[in-house]
Amino acid sequence: MPGSVDAAWLSYEGGRSHTATDLLDCREWPHLRLLGLLVHRRLAPRAMLAVSIAYGSTVDIWQGSAADWVITGMRQACEHHGYGIGGASVIKYQANAPRLVVMVRLQEKSVSEPVRGLSGSIAEEAASVRSKGWEYWHVWEVDRPKMPTADSGRLFLVVQRISAALRRMNARSVFLHEPGFFIVLPALLDMALQVTCCAARDLVLSSEIARRGLKLCAQCGLDLSESEHCRAPEDADALLLLDRCGPAAWQRRWAALSREWLRAPARAGGLVALMFEGSDASALAAVTAGLLDGVVSARVAATATFVHSSRRWAFAIIHVGDDRIEDALLPPAH
Ligand SMILES: [Zn+2]
Repeated sequence: MPGSVDAAWLSYEGGRSHTATDLLDCREWPHLRLLGLLVHRRLAPRAMLAVSIAYGSTVDIWQGSAADWVITGMRQACEHHGYGIGGASVIKYQANAPRLVVMVRLQEKSVSEPVRGLSGSIAEEAASVRSKGWEYWHVWEVDRPKMPTADSGRLFLVVQRISAALRRMNARSVFLHEPGFFIVLPALLDMALQVTCCAARDLVLSSEIARRGLKLCAQCGLDLSESEHCRAPEDADALLLLDRCGPAAWQRRWAALSREWLRAPARAGGLVALMFEGSDASALAAVTAGLLDGVVSARVAATATFVHSSRRWAFAIIHVGDDRIEDALLPPAH
């Protein structure tokens, strides 16, 4: 029996700012369940559900990805408990940290014509607020064309080295993860390489890859359990795992995949390029040593750490095979 609660506002603005991982997992947030709003179906069939969140200023992988993650997570949580949701309205503003308010109107799952955002005087009031950084979207389009953030500019600092190494080894097929797929992917497509895009199991990023008509990693399209991980195609000539997490998370996401690919019996050549955020230079040495352990024919061809947008990044290329990619990695002579 649907309940009688007509509106619920859940505030997640206290305490620390949410990370990208928090937002990706928002369908699991306990409040929706603890309050019984969804589990016991205490919300009315057309109730309004709003969530307000503080999040880190470097969370977005494209402009507005935080809102895309929260809307997608709310949709999953609602649909799991038999509610549908129509359109979402979104407010963004600044108060110490960036803030986001996502408001959805519930509807029967079977209704095919979605409710489009807020209505009436609430919508007018939300649109007319004059506050620092206040922006209001009556209807938030998750499927809109995406715009990169300034943060993704750090990949311009490594893309030429990666392209040069791939050219030198005559690569044809590449397995790629990069936040948002704005910088490295276009360079690879210009080289007429076959690219498999891995979303690191981010549903919003998977949908974006599909929306752009790109080839999505086979496992990203499946509902894998926690212990399973994505796998690179055996015939990929290179793995480009250019993440923005720290070294521990990088290893959780990518170390097993990389080792599996490096240790494939038929592996005669190829490279793994890796990137993560880390101010500790020893972390890069530890991660590369872990990948090389037991792989006789592989070696570290390049390492670098650099600062971009006040954060330090670690980058390395591990190479398998005889061709001399190191020459291609040297900075041009003056
Ligand atoms: Zn994947």
